[in-house]
Amino acid sequence: MYRTTGIYIKNNKISKYKEIVDAGVPEVVYIPLDRHVGAPAKPVVSKGAEVKIGTLVAKADETLSVNVYSSVAGKVVETDDKLITIKTSEDIYEKSIDTSEGIITEIPDSKTLILEKIRKAGIVGMGGAGFPAAVKLDIPETCKIECLVINGLEGEPYFTADNRLMVEKAEEIVIGARIINKLLGIQNAIIAVDEENKDAVKALVGVTKRYIGVNVKAVKNKYPTAAETQLIKKLFNVEIPKTKLTRDFGYIVHNVGTVYSIYNAVMKNKPLYERIVTVSGDAADNPQNFLVRAGTPASYLANKAGSIDNARLLICGGVMMGTEISDVNTPISLLDGGLLMFKKAKKDTEASPCIRCGRCSQNCPVHLQPFEIADRLKIGDTPKLYKLRPSDCINCGICSYLCPAKIPLLDFIKMAKEQIR
Ligand code: SF4
Ligand code: SF4
Repeated sequence: MYRTTGIYIKNNKISKYKEIVDAGVPEVVYIPLDRHVGAPAKPVVSKGAEVKIGTLVAKADETLSVNVYSSVAGKVVETDDKLITIKTSEDIYEKSIDTSEGIITEIPDSKTLILEKIRKAGIVGMGGAGFPAAVKLDIPETCKIECLVINGLEGEPYFTADNRLMVEKAEEIVIGARIINKLLGIQNAIIAVDEENKDAVKALVGVTKRYIGVNVKAVKNKYPTAAETQLIKKLFNVEIPKTKLTRDFGYIVHNVGTVYSIYNAVMKNKPLYERIVTVSGDAADNPQNFLVRAGTPASYLANKAGSIDNARLLICGGVMMGTEISDVNTPISLLDGGLLMFKKAKKDTEASPCIRCGRCSQNCPVHLQPFEIADRLKIGDTPKLYKLRPSDCINCGICSYLCPAKIPLLDFIKMAKEQIR
């Protein structure tokens, strides 16, 4: 069972009111093939191939894998198992993509067609999970879905990308919800929004008045409410046991960015090759929300919000769940909601020994003992490590955040998960 507690964390949503701007096209993109949960996609283009925006560059290799599309027009300069490198040229789109500005409201009748469009477009869970959306929406007959929950809570302290998406693309999101409603045979979607994000609530409520079957719920965002099971507990007071899926209890949860991508795939034939990314942190002179092509190097994006030379610490993803990067060419993937730049490197605040205060274990939403996992990992006690269940960790980062000794517990737990695997 999950705890119902969670913590209130200090928000730094300094880019909250910044409109989405196009980050543009870097000289080179490095498109990742392995950021989703399943096997890496298999390249279908070779060195020297000319591609357009929306060209299929790698094919799903098994059920949990997804198709990968080019985010730019240009020439392929290198391919390997993990990346396709493309030197960019002037934007040219695949003819099949509808690039018009207008909003399309008429949803296709065929559920098979809708699901196939989502599958073909390579849509993954954009809240960071990377689970293929088509697999999640292919519901077995034994499951009766009652409600679609759209997660717009965006728990990471600096992130504002989803908030801006809800403000600026409210109608597309609501239509995206209706597409999923149709697929699931229901008329009951709830968009959960942080009550602090009043502009997003207002935009969505305004649109839902014109569409049946989609409602907005403003909730207090206690971290990690944005995690699926915590959100279901918050909204319906239903506990989802670890051994079960939300669909076993009648709920399907999708991130708001995923729903927007589903709208684009079904109504505009647009595969997934770009997303909204917040670039923020104290080293960013102008924190902003950017529309970013998949594979854009972190350095290019950081320089759009300031100067990468001012940053001694770069984090891809958020301060709670993200990963520190040392290679400034690390590509931004479709799962990264933010790139954070800080003036102070982590080694400036070195960890001290554990004082056994218990804050990490008392506040872990899935009842783990992070300090014990870190200790067992350090001495290589794999049998005990296995019993401590690091694979149950939902990567929320609360343990690292609360630790007074500044021990990077989440990093240890990620390593422990690898070791168990
Ligand atoms: S990161 Fe994992 S171990 Fe740490 S508090 Fe969150 S769920 Fe628990
Ligand atoms: S929070 Fe940090 S200091 Fe406290 S028990 Fe956990 S690891 Fe040790």
